[in-house]
Parts: sequence; C-alpha cells; structure tokens
Amino acid sequence: MNRRVLLKQLMMGLPAAAFLPTFLSSCAKEVLIEDFKFTGSVIVIGAGASGIYASNLLRQYGAQVTHLEARSVIGGRMKPNTSIPGIKIELGAEEIHGKRSILYDLAQFNVPSSLIPLPGDDYYFLENQLRSKDFLTGNANLEGTGATMFQILDSFASYPGGAQSVAQYLEEKELDARFIEIANALVGNEYGADNNRIGMLALKEAEAGYSSGEDGQILKDKSLLELFETAFAEDVNQVELNKPVESINYEGAQVVVTTENGESFTADKVLITVPLSILKNNSITFIPTLPSDKLDSIDAIKMDNGLKIVLQFNAPFWVGNTGSIIGGSKVPEYWITGAGKNESVNLVTAFLMGEKADYMAGLSDAQKITEILEELSLLYPTGNVLGKYNGINIVQNWLQEPYIEGAYSYPSPGSEGKRSVLAAPVEGKLYFAGEATNFNGHLATVHGAMESGYRAVKEILEA
Ligand SMILES: Cc1cc2nc3c(=O)[nH]c(=O)nc-3n(C[C@H](O)[C@H](O)[C@H](O)COP(=O)(O)OP(=O)(O)OC[C@H]3O[C@@H](n4cnc5c(N)ncnc54)[C@H](O)[C@@H]3O)c2cc1C
Repeated sequence: MNRRVLLKQLMMGLPAAAFLPTFLSSCAKEVLIEDFKFTGSVIVIGAGASGIYASNLLRQYGAQVTHLEARSVIGGRMKPNTSIPGIKIELGAEEIHGKRSILYDLAQFNVPSSLIPLPGDDYYFLENQLRSKDFLTGNANLEGTGATMFQILDSFASYPGGAQSVAQYLEEKELDARFIEIANALVGNEYGADNNRIGMLALKEAEAGYSSGEDGQILKDKSLLELFETAFAEDVNQVELNKPVESINYEGAQVVVTTENGESFTADKVLITVPLSILKNNSITFIPTLPSDKLDSIDAIKMDNGLKIVLQFNAPFWVGNTGSIIGGSKVPEYWITGAGKNESVNLVTAFLMGEKADYMAGLSDAQKITEILEELSLLYPTGNVLGKYNGINIVQNWLQEPYIEGAYSYPSPGSEGKRSVLAAPVEGKLYFAGEATNFNGHLATVHGAMESGYRAVKEILEA
C-alpha cells in the first residue's frame, strides 16, 4: 500500500519536523511566531490538506481568511468512498507515512482509537509465484540477487552518480531481470510514476529529505477526510464551495481573485494550494504572468495519472494476513483493502501509476476488471478468483477528477532543486503551498501538504 518501504533516514536532521507543532491540545495555539497578530486579509485557494490546515493557522493568528474551493466538496485528494457497507474505502490518500509527522500527531490527538499500524505481510511476484521478502533475500537459488536489489533501493539517498532515470540506474547496477517489476512497484509506482519517469537526482533529493519514519499507519474506522473535518471543523465550515478561481491579478497593492462565475474577491495576500496539474494547464490566469523561474519549475516537476481500482469478492482467495502483493506486470501493487479494518468485506485494491496507469486508463472499465482478474488468477491458480468475484467494483481515475487532474507530483528528471522555487512567494502577495511545493522530502503525501501549508503561513506572518 503506497508505503515507504525504502526509507531509512531515521534521524536525519528532521529539517521541517524540528519546528512543526504537535497537537498537544485542540485549542493550543501553535507557536509559529510568538506574540504576533496578523491584521491583514488572505484568500486561500483550494481546500485539500494544505489549504485547510493553512486556513486554520491563519485564523489562529488573526487573519481575515476567505477560503475558496472549486469543487462541491472539500478534501481534494482525500476522497473516501462509503458505497460498500462496513468500510470506508480511501480512493486517494490512505496511509499515514511514519510516526514523526504532523498528520500522525493530528490523528493521535483526534482519533487515537482508530489509528493502527499498517497490517499484513507483503508478498512479491517472482516468476509468477508469490514469495515473501525472506525468500527474496535468503533463497539460495537467487544467489543474493534479491538482497542486492533491496540494498540498492535502500541507498538512493546517497546516490553518487549523475542524471539518469531509475530504470537506467538499475540497468547500470545489473539488477537481475526477475526483479524489474518489483523494483518498479517499490520505487516508481510508489512515487507516482514508474522507474523510466523518475530521475535519480530528484529521487536522491526526496529520499535524503524524508524524515517521518517507516512505521506506516492507517485509520481503522475513520477516513482521513473525517479526521480533517473533526480537527478543523470551524475552518471546514467556512470553505466557500463551487468557487473555481479563474484569474489572480496581483498588479495592485491588493490582489484580486476572480472565479469562473465572475465573482471577485480582494485581499492583501493569496495562498495558492491547487494541485500542480492546475498550474501546469494554465486554467488560472496570473496577471502579470508568474516569474520565469516559477514557470520553469511548474514545467519541470511532473504529475501523471494514477488509478485505484477496488474489487469485491464473496470470499478471500488470498492467504490470511496478506497485506500487499507487489510487482505485477499489469498492476504494480495490490492490497487487501479491509486488512485491519474489516476483513469480512473481501476487497482488493489495485494501485497503478505511470505507464501502467496510462495503459489501464485506456481500457473500458469492463476490460480493466478482466485484466486484473486475469493477473490475480495467474497468482492464485487454485484460488477460484473468477468464481469469487461478485461483480462489484469501484474505478477511480485521478486524471479525470475535476480540478485535481492527476495523482501526485513525482521526482521527475530535472526537477531536483525546483520545488523550493515552486514554493517561493511572489512580490509578497502570492504564496504557494500543496504537496508539490514540499521540498523536505515529503512530496506526494498528506503530511507533506500540511507542512507546506505551515511553511507558507509562516512566510505570510513573517513578510
Ligand atoms: C491515489 C492516491 C493515493 C495516495 N496515497 C497517499 C497515502 O497513502 N498517504 C499520503 O500521505 N498521501 C497519499 N496521497 C497523496 C495525498 O493525497 C496528497 O499529497 C495530498 O492530499 C495533497 O493535498 P494538497 O492540499 O496539496 O492538494 P489537494 O488535496 O489536491 O487540494 C487542492 C484543492 O484545490 C482545489 N482546486 C483546484 N483548482 C482550483 C481552482 N481553480 N479554484 C479553487 N480551488 C481549486 C481542488 O479541488 C482541491 O480540493 C495519495 C494521492 C492519490 C491520488
């Protein structure tokens, strides 16, 4: 499950976490700047994790906040589905990555009884058989090649080489061909693309910065969106829905924000938290145009499609305590959706990014399900996968999600060093947050989005 299996940076300086607040009490004022009152006005654009958290902090410091969201719902890439009784299925963010994170603290404070360690054992596709990690690293017939793969994947933070893709680097390291799909699942798919599309230098930057720890957590009976609705209830209630921003004019002393339906809002400062894809497709017009280094960073950092496809079965075909199934040629990672939450629902999530997501997205929904069932049948030849499928599925295609238009930003070749440029304020009037602006190694996560909101609010208060 989209987990940080590779990251070993346990005590690496904690660049952002060192000043991040913990949620010691729900009404405790988090100390961004001591004894400070901000009397100005701020328009926050976007009500995902970064925007909601930022509006909460801004209000704590006295700002007059107008919070505009394009969609009819808040949450952005936190998107629970409740169509199957007995479980909240996360179609976007699901895992809380590590315990040293602002999101972990938020969950620990607000919904402690729901917070559980990521359950289940991982299995890997190796020559069409499911194998444990111990088998990969210890089986004599593999002659140490599996262990070598894990060593390579664990050492990206100290990569000594130049610009090349992860796929090229693994070829240079003569990775055993049997492990190519597994390595793709663990690195490329995990990071929101595939090993051909991830650049080693940008990956090194991300891995060296990551400091949240490796203990994945999930919420057993709450969704991440419910956590935000609980923790930031007052802010969530003040979001103005169905207000898609079309233009931002920052020529004058005040910034004028206009929505698609012609409404205008004016404030001293604007905090832009829309997904990178929205900045890329120019659906918001900036007047004057953004600085060229900002445009260059928007171009350099990539964000592609991602799919989650959930299938329901009448009974399990997997062995008990299965967590994830890693390294398929069609689907890089499957996981047992109900593991730790509700085992009786018999759900499997297929999680695809990059070129495999592009391929699958091009098929009809019926074809998608057929291909997934074929792959699962190959792995569980005696499991009667087809017979157990009950015909219920949920297909989530993030490229088609209005005002999101992609999964999450990834370490594309040439994007190293660009996230801090993307994040930089413009003329003391425009500020930027959102997962893609996280330059502490927590890109593409909910806690990274929150950290970016915190960073941007600090910039606003200090301006
Ligand atoms: C399939 C998938 C799986 C994931 N798994 C995990 C996981 O397990 N753990 C994890 O930590 N993270 C995960 N993530 C990543 C995580 O969901 C994101 O990093 C995080 O939610 C992004 O928050 P954000 O505030 O940056 O952006 P968003 O949540 O995208 O919020 C931006 C908001 O801006 C709004 N908006 C866009 N355009 C406009 C406009 N013109 N005017 C006004 N509003 C606008 C959007 O509607 C949206 O609500 C996953 C994401 C996906 C897609």
